[in-house]
Amino acid sequence: MAATTSSSPHSLFLQTPNRNHPFKANNFSSFTNLKIKTFSTRRTPMSITCASTAAAPIQTQIQNQEGDRVFNFAAGPATLPEKVLAKAQSELYNWRGSGMSVMEMSHRGKEFKSIIEKAESDLRTLLNIPQEYSVLFLQGGATTQFAAIPLNVCRPEDPVDFLVTGSWGDKAYKEAQKYCNPKVIWSGKTEKYTKIPSFEDLKQNPDAKFLHICANETIHGVEFKNYPTPNNATGLLIADMSSNFCSKPVDVSKFGIIYAGAQKNVGPSGVTIVIVRKDLIGHAQESTPVMLDYKIHDENNSLYNTPPCYCIYMCGLVFDYLLELGGLEEVERMNKKKADLLYNAIDGSNGFYRCPVEKSVRSLMNVPFTLEKSELEAEFVKEAAKEQMVQLKGHRSVGGMRASIYNAMPLAGVEKLVAFMKDFQAKHA
Ligand code: PMP
Repeated sequence: MAATTSSSPHSLFLQTPNRNHPFKANNFSSFTNLKIKTFSTRRTPMSITCASTAAAPIQTQIQNQEGDRVFNFAAGPATLPEKVLAKAQSELYNWRGSGMSVMEMSHRGKEFKSIIEKAESDLRTLLNIPQEYSVLFLQGGATTQFAAIPLNVCRPEDPVDFLVTGSWGDKAYKEAQKYCNPKVIWSGKTEKYTKIPSFEDLKQNPDAKFLHICANETIHGVEFKNYPTPNNATGLLIADMSSNFCSKPVDVSKFGIIYAGAQKNVGPSGVTIVIVRKDLIGHAQESTPVMLDYKIHDENNSLYNTPPCYCIYMCGLVFDYLLELGGLEEVERMNKKKADLLYNAIDGSNGFYRCPVEKSVRSLMNVPFTLEKSELEAEFVKEAAKEQMVQLKGHRSVGGMRASIYNAMPLAGVEKLVAFMKDFQAKHA
C-alpha cells in the first residue's frame, strides 16, 4: 500500500473514534503529509505525537468521548478504560518512536521485551505477587487451563476436589476428568448456583492433589468473599479468577495457581494470565502438549512461540492505569460503590426486580437479575439499548438480565442504569 512512506519524524493526523470514522482503507494515502496537532475533543480533528520515546502518563491522555460510546455491560469481551483506549490509539501507528506499531514488532526485539517485562512487573506490584510465583502470558483462554492445570500438577490417577458454584467450575471439572480423577465435593446446581457452602462442612479428600474453585462465576454472579483452606495432601488451592481478576486485592500466597482470561477486567481476549507457584512447574505428564507445559513457558519468559503481543501490550496499559488509579484497594472501593448502587436498586424495587443470588456471595462484577413480570424482559433490554446501555441480556442458560460492571464500567454507567430501572418500573408497575 502506498500509504506508509511518510518520512521521519512520523506524524499522524487522526480523528477521535466515532461512528463516522475517517480511517477507511482508501483514506490511508491522506495520512502521509499530515501535521501533528494536540489531542483535542471529540469529533474534531486531533493529532498525536508518535515520535516521543517516553510514555506519557495515561491520565494526561484522557478523551471525553461521552456520546461516542455506549455503556457496555457485556460479560466479556468487555468494556475497557477509555483512557487506555485513547493511550493505545495514540501509540497505535508508531509505538514510542520505534517507527512501528506494537502489532508489527518482533516478539524477540528489545521494544517488545520492555513491554512484556513492564506488564509483568506492574501486575506483580498490583497483586503483590511473591517472588516464588511465575507469571505466564499464555494463549487458549481460561478454557485451555482447565486441561493444562491437571496435566501440569497431576498424574492421571490422582484424586482432585472441585467445589462447583456455577457453570465455569462445572466445565473445569468436566475437562479435568480427561487428565486426572476429579470429584465434585459440593455443587450448587440444585439451587441454581446461587450459593457458596460453609467451608467447615466441606468433605475434602485428604489425598486430593488440589482443591479447585471458580472465584467468580460470571454467568451466575456468585463470588467467593473469602477462600476455603485446602485440607489435602499438598495444601493446594487453585482458582479460576477470569471474571474478577484485578478487581480487588488478593493474597496470592494462599493459592498454588491463579488463572484468568484477560477479556473481562484487564485487556482484550487472546491472552490468559497464569500465576503459578514455582515448585509446581516441571512436573507435567509426559503426554502434555508443549504449549500447555508451564515449564516451557516459564523457561522462555512466555516467549516460547509467538505470544499475543498486542493483547499483552493492552494488558500492560491496563495494569499501568490501575496503578495510577491507586492500586487494587482503590479499585475495589470503586467496584463496591457501583455494585451497592445496583443491588440496592434491585432490592429496593418491591420485588419488581430480583437478584436470585444469596446476599453474602453476590458478585461485585456480574449482577444477574430478573423481572417479576418476565414478559417485560425483552422490552427492558431493548429500551435500555435505545438509551446507549447495551449487552444487558442474561446468559442464554439462565435468562433474565445480567449487568457486568467490571473495573472499567464507570460509576456514571451504573447510575444511568439505575435511573433507567426506576423509570422502567414506574412505567410498568
Ligand atoms: N472461566 C470463567 C469464570 C469465565 O467467565 C470464562 C469466560 N466467560 C471462562 C472461564 C472461559 O474463558 P475463555 O473464553 O477465555 O476460555
